[in-house]
Amino acid sequence: MSFETVIGLEVHVELLSETKVFCTCKSEFGGKPNTRICEICTGMPGTLPRLNEKVVEFAVKTGLATDCEITKITRFDRKNYFYPDLPKAYQISQLYLPICRNGHIEIKTENGKKIIGIHEIHIEEDAGKLIHTESGTLIDCNRCGVPLLEIVTEPDFSGADEVIAFLEALRSTLTYLGVSDCKMQEGSMRADVNLSVRSAGSRELGTRTEMKNLNSFHDIADAVKSEAARQIALIKSGEAVIQQTRRWDADKRESYAMRSKEAANDYRYFPEPDIPPIDISESFINRINSALPELPAAKKQRYMNELGLSGYDASVLTNDIYIVSFFEAALKDCNSPKEVANWVLGEVLRLLKDSGTDSKSNPLKPEALVKIIEMVQSGKINRNTGKTVLEKAFYDGVDVERYISENGLSLITDSDVIESSVEAVIAGNEKSVTDYKRGKTAALGYLVGQTMKALGGRADANEIQKLLRELLN
Ligand code: ADP
Ligand code: MG
Ligand code: ZN
Repeated sequence: MSFETVIGLEVHVELLSETKVFCTCKSEFGGKPNTRICEICTGMPGTLPRLNEKVVEFAVKTGLATDCEITKITRFDRKNYFYPDLPKAYQISQLYLPICRNGHIEIKTENGKKIIGIHEIHIEEDAGKLIHTESGTLIDCNRCGVPLLEIVTEPDFSGADEVIAFLEALRSTLTYLGVSDCKMQEGSMRADVNLSVRSAGSRELGTRTEMKNLNSFHDIADAVKSEAARQIALIKSGEAVIQQTRRWDADKRESYAMRSKEAANDYRYFPEPDIPPIDISESFINRINSALPELPAAKKQRYMNELGLSGYDASVLTNDIYIVSFFEAALKDCNSPKEVANWVLGEVLRLLKDSGTDSKSNPLKPEALVKIIEMVQSGKINRNTGKTVLEKAFYDGVDVERYISENGLSLITDSDVIESSVEAVIAGNEKSVTDYKRGKTAALGYLVGQTMKALGGRADANEIQKLLRELLN
């Protein structure tokens, strides 16, 4: 019997609102433990929550960008449970009337495009953080009340590649909207993987498990593979899959059972009495809708149509909003989109990768790149020098023009100097000259290289080649 895997995701993202969802504490990541807290987010008796409108705006933005219906009257519910990182002993969430429903996101798979359904998006508050030390466990409440969106998909995925494609598309969309920075490493994007298996072609869903603590795409890919294999092995040996919550152990590269899966009624959900239902007006939705930025798919298409970029180049460029901003800022002062795209896709991405720099913290100024491109195009420097200078601008923030002039990197324009250098190379490399004359064209490349070396790399290779040919023939 052959099996297929069925996966649905619950993705949590932390929102970039300045303050928390029900109080005015700072919601930014970090801070000295327990310095960004107040009576409300630590659940002191007698305090009342007050909903942050920005959070509603971010949720509606996300819903509109993923083709969801926006719930006109939305409501909050209490999810009750005890855990030391949750001082209130309940989490304010949305069970019955989530703010967004029935949306979708399109992904690219190896078999073409696929639509992944979004069951719902709801608002909730984050819990605090437990820090386990040798002398005991410490509690940091800074994260209590940080606004989250939970994005719940339909069970539409059939493997890890699709899951990762979805998370990448979701991350692009959310970062374009500016609602979250979606950093898995910092925990501002976390995905729980619900997975079941069934006999291939069957329509019924099998019993699922939910996997938590997946902190990278790499973890997700491995967790999907190992959990699918575990369930298939159980079924083959005549045992049943138990519905449970499992935790991924990133060191052992395997998951273990944490608890049997809780059901909604275990949480004694009830409507949150301290927050009245929210009436989301048509004009509020329209205002947000008309201010939505150009989204990744539309931008990619436009780059292909208007700038003549290939589908691949356009998708690499549009994947990341910070790369987009850099690219578009450079384009403003330079009318060779293809050239700018090539430099960004090649050199800029390489520099970011080699230095381990986040695209958001790219130290390079778009004007520096534009200057270099102009100088290469006008023949003031060659491409290799351009790359060297770009690296200097990236790492040391040098001024491009000043660096080129102070280090004498501009091309030698005096043709006498170039010619005498070519002549010297011809005179000093008899063997290569004979080889070339006997038809070994590779020898010419060697002679160009020697001349270039003699000129300190400050010449145009094509020009040298032309001159060599003339003199040799
Ligand atoms: P809960 O809220 O109890 O976790 P939901 O029914 O809301 O359960 O589903 C949560 C997630 O699990 C959704 O992403 C959904 O698509 C996915 N899911 C539900 N049933 C299955 C299944 N049999 N196999 C795989 N995923 C599933
Ligand atoms: Mg769940
Ligand atoms: Zn607070």
